[in-house]
Amino acid sequence: MLAKDLRINELIQRDPKTGFPQYGGQRLLITGVATLKRFYEDLYNMIGPERSRIIFTRMGYDNGLAGGLALKNMYEFETSVQLIKALPIVTPMVGMAREVNSRFEYDPEKNIFNYTGEWTQSFESLIWNLHQKGPSRTPLCHMLCGLAAGYFSAVIGRDVLVKELSCRAQGNEFCRFEARPIEEWDEEKDFFHEIIRTDSLDEELEFLRSELNRSQQFLQKQQQEIQRLKQQTCRPETIEHGIIYRSPDMAKLIELAEIAAPNDSTILIQGESGTGKELIARYIHECSKRSDAPFLAINCAAIPATLIESELFGHEKGAFTGAEKSKPGLFIQACSGTIFLDEIGELPFEVQAKLLRVLQQKEVMPLGSVQKQSVTARTIAATNQDLQQMVADGTFRKDLFYRVSVFPLFITPLRQRREDILVLARHFLSRLNEDHPGFTPEAVRRMQRYNWPGNIRELENCVEYAFILSRDTPIQIEHLPVSINLETDDSFTGMISDFPTPKELIRRYAKQVVSHTEGNKTRAAEMMGISIPTLWRYLKP
Ligand SMILES: [Zn+2]
Repeated sequence: MLAKDLRINELIQRDPKTGFPQYGGQRLLITGVATLKRFYEDLYNMIGPERSRIIFTRMGYDNGLAGGLALKNMYEFETSVQLIKALPIVTPMVGMAREVNSRFEYDPEKNIFNYTGEWTQSFESLIWNLHQKGPSRTPLCHMLCGLAAGYFSAVIGRDVLVKELSCRAQGNEFCRFEARPIEEWDEEKDFFHEIIRTDSLDEELEFLRSELNRSQQFLQKQQQEIQRLKQQTCRPETIEHGIIYRSPDMAKLIELAEIAAPNDSTILIQGESGTGKELIARYIHECSKRSDAPFLAINCAAIPATLIESELFGHEKGAFTGAEKSKPGLFIQACSGTIFLDEIGELPFEVQAKLLRVLQQKEVMPLGSVQKQSVTARTIAATNQDLQQMVADGTFRKDLFYRVSVFPLFITPLRQRREDILVLARHFLSRLNEDHPGFTPEAVRRMQRYNWPGNIRELENCVEYAFILSRDTPIQIEHLPVSINLETDDSFTGMISDFPTPKELIRRYAKQVVSHTEGNKTRAAEMMGISIPTLWRYLKP
């Protein structure tokens, strides 16, 4: 999940029971800016600007903290950098401001966090009527500052304070702000503590928050290396002739396909079924100088062995019973285009020998004919089988294998390029209904965790199935096919596969729950209905 994958219609869901809008399990209240304007003015007049600032910042802070934590729980973001990048996407979604020119530096290892940006059309600056009142003496976007501070504190696990350096209410074009960890704001420390000031009841919350921060910091350290690696590979999704991807594996494959396209060499595309081998073959054809000529595809597994020879090479009238007139084979029909032989591993052994001759001599002799015809078509073959193993087993000709695999391409299965799952799922859904409200975060998580043995074809079917069940409401876990929902049992199968002792089984189970709560042992113990010391005891090897 990347920051730019966030969609407002998926983030804000309707509570199925009450119909209320909700975000991260919390009911939302929609308030107009005009109403707030009145509230701001009343509060300013009643308690003065200083106290108002505290109240508004606090309101924003609580909102940002809850919002950040909810977002973190809803999706599995590739890196925490993506969570930081989500803020400028969320701020306009909730109507508070538009953020531009954001820049940040983040290195948890070296304790570096520094974020600057500009808000345009901040709702708070609009509340201050510049024309009537003239420029304000101080910045006024308190709730926004609080929101950003709470949000950053939640996602990086440290207390962050956001200060507005200059405000539109002061007569500037934009509101400029800067975020840093609280220790770096000497003169603002007291103000910050006032904001997160905890009354007696809140002491508990304060404790939980520090616990949360600790576990987040721990997690972040672990994620750092992964983060560094992923940052290098995160790329925007690309659409090349209907091939949709974001993963580096697919980008590499497309690059190779483009290199191979202008040559005339035979190409062998390998990949599990459902990975879109024909799509790649078509793409190569489109990129080649043969794109104006036909692209003919044949599935060797779908045609009876007795017919395949005449399909490929053609026949003369009377060549066999039922051959009432002569017919050119695919190699001739393809002219100077491309012939795509899918599932070439299914080709009968004797036909393999004839195919080899066609490829080598670039000539074809139709059944029942004595006249050779020259072949100008290019051949692209594909298989989901291990041809090399078939050669070793004696079911596929070695010479043909070398002839077709001059330029081998391999399509990675979907489970090994999870970055592509969401972009593909959204693509399929938009083809069914462009205005569909999308997937709930739980459904996204479930799809991203599933192994997709049937690859892209299975994903496409899954989206279509869920689309029908969802009837234009957001797609939820219950709408996904049963097979996808069953998969979660795999972790249990894995847990018991080596018949562990009951003590070891309990340890694995406890570990699983702790990893589900992302390291939060308090919550894990709660879920298991045991005390924290008992959980510790379970976790001990
Ligand atoms: Zn401002």
